[in-house]
Amino acid sequence: MPATAQRLPSPYRPETEVVSRRLQFLQGALDWAAAAQVASPWVRAVRRHPPPFWAMESLLKEYPISSAEGLALMRLAEALLRVPDAETAIALTADQLSRADFEGSADSALARLSHSAIALSKRFLPGDGAQPEGGLFARLGARTVVGATLRAVQLLGRQFVLGQTIGEAMHEAAAARRRQPNLRFSYDMLGEGARTAPDAERYLQHYRQGIAAIGANADPAQPVQANDGISIKLSALHPRYEALQRERVLEELVPRVWSLCRMAADANVNLTIDAEEVDRLELSLEVFEALAERVGRETPQWQGFGLALQSYQTRALELIAHVAEIARRHRIRLMCRLVKGAYWDAEIKRAQELGLPHYPVFTHKHHTDVSYLACARALLEAKDVIYPQFATHNAGTIAAILQMARRNGAPFELQRLHGMGEGVYREVSRYSPSGQDGLPPTQPPPPGGGAIPVRVYAPVGVHRDLLAYLVRRLLENGANSSFVHQLADESVGLDELLESPLHLAPEPSLPLPPDLYGAERRNSAGVDLTVPSLRATLEEALAQTTVPAIALADPAQVPAAVDRSLAAGEGWSRVPVAERAAALRRAADAMEADLPRLCALLVKEGFKAWGDSVAEVREAVDFLRYYALQAERLLQPVTLPGPTGESNELRLTARGAWVCISPWNFPLAIFTGQVAAALVTGNSVLAKPAEQTPAVAAEAVRLLHAAGVPRDALQLLHGPGETVGAALVAEPRIAGVVFTGSTQVAKVIQRALAAKDGPIVPLIAETGGINAMLVDSTALPEQVVDAVVQSAFRSAGQRCSALRLLCVHEAIADGVIAMVQGAARELVTGDPAEWRTDVGPVIDDEAFANLQRHLQRLQREAKPLLPPSEFDPRTRMVPPQAFEVTAVDQVKHEIFGPVLHIARWRGDPQATIHAINRIGYGLTLGIQTRIDSRAEALAREARIGNVYVNRNMIGAVVGVQPFGGEGMSGTGPKAGGPHYLTRFCAEQTVTVNTAAAGGNVALLA
Ligand SMILES: Cc1cc2nc3c(=O)[nH]c(=O)nc-3n(C[C@H](O)[C@H](O)[C@H](O)COP(=O)(O)OP(=O)(O)OC[C@H]3O[C@@H](n4cnc5c(N)ncnc54)[C@H](O)[C@@H]3O)c2cc1C
Repeated sequence: MPATAQRLPSPYRPETEVVSRRLQFLQGALDWAAAAQVASPWVRAVRRHPPPFWAMESLLKEYPISSAEGLALMRLAEALLRVPDAETAIALTADQLSRADFEGSADSALARLSHSAIALSKRFLPGDGAQPEGGLFARLGARTVVGATLRAVQLLGRQFVLGQTIGEAMHEAAAARRRQPNLRFSYDMLGEGARTAPDAERYLQHYRQGIAAIGANADPAQPVQANDGISIKLSALHPRYEALQRERVLEELVPRVWSLCRMAADANVNLTIDAEEVDRLELSLEVFEALAERVGRETPQWQGFGLALQSYQTRALELIAHVAEIARRHRIRLMCRLVKGAYWDAEIKRAQELGLPHYPVFTHKHHTDVSYLACARALLEAKDVIYPQFATHNAGTIAAILQMARRNGAPFELQRLHGMGEGVYREVSRYSPSGQDGLPPTQPPPPGGGAIPVRVYAPVGVHRDLLAYLVRRLLENGANSSFVHQLADESVGLDELLESPLHLAPEPSLPLPPDLYGAERRNSAGVDLTVPSLRATLEEALAQTTVPAIALADPAQVPAAVDRSLAAGEGWSRVPVAERAAALRRAADAMEADLPRLCALLVKEGFKAWGDSVAEVREAVDFLRYYALQAERLLQPVTLPGPTGESNELRLTARGAWVCISPWNFPLAIFTGQVAAALVTGNSVLAKPAEQTPAVAAEAVRLLHAAGVPRDALQLLHGPGETVGAALVAEPRIAGVVFTGSTQVAKVIQRALAAKDGPIVPLIAETGGINAMLVDSTALPEQVVDAVVQSAFRSAGQRCSALRLLCVHEAIADGVIAMVQGAARELVTGDPAEWRTDVGPVIDDEAFANLQRHLQRLQREAKPLLPPSEFDPRTRMVPPQAFEVTAVDQVKHEIFGPVLHIARWRGDPQATIHAINRIGYGLTLGIQTRIDSRAEALAREARIGNVYVNRNMIGAVVGVQPFGGEGMSGTGPKAGGPHYLTRFCAEQTVTVNTAAAGGNVALLA
């Protein structure tokens, strides 16, 4: 199939449409009332005999994640075990234990939590008297509380992992099976998604060892379904398991997974591919299909291959049809696990961030349940090729499945997670159908003669690796809507708990991504590049787009251009602000509609990668809509208080003709932002784009003219900064200059403006920075590395906000540095028109030569962390580079390219922030820590404009993260922020003595 062939429908469809079809599909298939009747006694019994205190249900009851204690426990569980140094472990524990409201008294939440931590650890290990009883953090001493908390978290983790090694886990499984013979297991070898090739290799070995051990115990004679199996994550087996790395994934990952399949098939073991994020589904299917084809060819007798399917996805039903079709085509039988889905919050966030038209998952919990039931029906109906495995802890869902399965007569199994749902499953295992499920008692019993097979998903690994898994489970099941949570909450009545999901909610429960900013400002529409058909549209645009030549302006023409600008400005400034704003909004809509062509132009003229190009068009659209709205608000006259007999009004007015000088690195967004701000406030504009990217700027100007901005109110003057730019700045009649670029050029402009006689002209300058990221030892290395790679190397490091200096705590530095090295090696440097490219060429020969000079210097002065590359001036490609420096102050120059410096720090993190402040720039700062109070204190101490905690530090969004720095990084105000437009305006007050003509009527009346 071609790269842009799409297997499934769009994930972004109206929820109601999809759910209506699911409800139709379920008509007549299910009697919910009867299912609820079956489930009621299970729920009552579970509530009468609650599970042990450490089960997920009990944990959520005692420490709901909506409470301070629950949140603290979750945060500690996520981070504490990985912190190597005592000092930081104490700071983290103190921070989290003091999250809640504990004003002093011995009965405070802090005290309770300290007690709880200790009590919890004691309850796990009865008779372990190592920890002293009672008292506050202070009274017990920090080390004791931290020790107790560590112990509590470790023991907590132990309840959700079956064993630290596969041997240990299988031993536990055997013991459980002696008590409950219908149990089967699917082992999950824990770990984060691989970021580097060695990570992927390590996980592959874990899976191999796992399959070998499971296989050694498997019965070769019995059906594969009856044996234990393994669950694997494709993201663990390849460092770039991403849609845009498709070719590489197919080439490298498929053989790797096939080697596991082959082992599993030979050992008569089942192997399930776990379901991951929505943006990986099409790729997973492609990988799955390649493997299925091979199973069909080489091991057709093996019926143990399968995958997990998430019903919370709007495409779930079509996915099942597609998977069944694959099985039929290759004449194989599959095992398919139906889950609801574990990444709901992350999917919602991604759709909002990308400005997608709809959510790829349902927004009502009961819609996910409807979809689950519809998918269950589809799986049961595909019994010729699929053995369904229903994974859920929801008693209502289980009862409904049993009913549908009994009608259908297909073999199936149920699944639960280790450490969860034991109470419900205890009751389910005692259940024998007797007519109360809506079917006559004469119906055959469930396959297997009564005891429905139940498979336990059993994580295996060291506790440190378990925690990310545990936190996901806490989040997923701690949500108010979750069955497990509601089961534990006695205030939720039986009727509510088992209410029928079979109805349609007419509206999504959340605003759709386009409505994220409310009715007043539409969010810019984005494109999900992981959807093949959308990539095809962009490819088409690329094929049709050429970069036009733009005529150079003659510096001698500048005075005439200013004449026209002033004349046009007279009229434009009198146009009501609402009309000017409307013109901007029209331009925004036109840009949005023209996104594929504008992206193609950005790729061709600006050498931007596709993802960056889409983000840039969206930013430009956001600028237009945001400034339109702001201008309508700000430019209203304000009545001021004063003495009677007088009216006072403050008005903002246009200043005149503005010169807008923008850079090549955001040739559309920054250009449009500057121009839109000046225009909407009633000024006229002389725009000088970067010499390297005039065609993109010309396109923006064309769209603004078409939207109603008079031609002379917005003039494009393309040419070198030294001539055209300098002539514009020097022109005596201009009212202001807005500039984005280097600090050095900003200074030249400032001096040129100061040297002129006449009015003092305002300058808004946004300049670069030596942007740092501070990482402490509580940070999650994988998250840090993702943020570092994106911030330092995306856009070839050619962003003002890019990360230049990574400051990492010495206790975790070796590991983080190794992971940065590994992840950087996986990046693809090349032609930006290719989907797989992460790092395109640098913009021009001058930039390339500059970078080479800097890199030669760094080779001498610092420790290179990545192999030196051969630089070819013809392609201007600079693969990612990283150097270790001895101290923060060794970094003195802003290097505008994919070059990262790394320094280790120890001691007080504030001292490192002070050192960063002393560099003198103040644009962006990243902080990676799980100590919330530390993040807050460091942000307050930093003399830096944009601070990002626990994420990347690029891609500021208009109106969300207004952008701009201080010190050598710029004058402010921030672009895309509420204070920007006022700088383009003059202010006028009008005071009228209303008492002048015949006395103060208002007072007398
Ligand atoms: C054996 C097993 C294997 C699993 N493997 C995977 C896997 O490979 N991949 C994976 O993603 N998950 C997997 N899961 C996790 C599974 O998705 C969760 O356990 C499941 O979400 C809980 O479902 P439930 O029926 O037990 O609970 P319920 O409480 O009935 O359902 C919770 C579900 O509803 C969703 N939800 C919550 N609020 C809303 C809302 N407002 N709108 C729409 N939906 C909402 C949640 O995201 C969740 O999916 C597995 C689970 C089990 C038991």
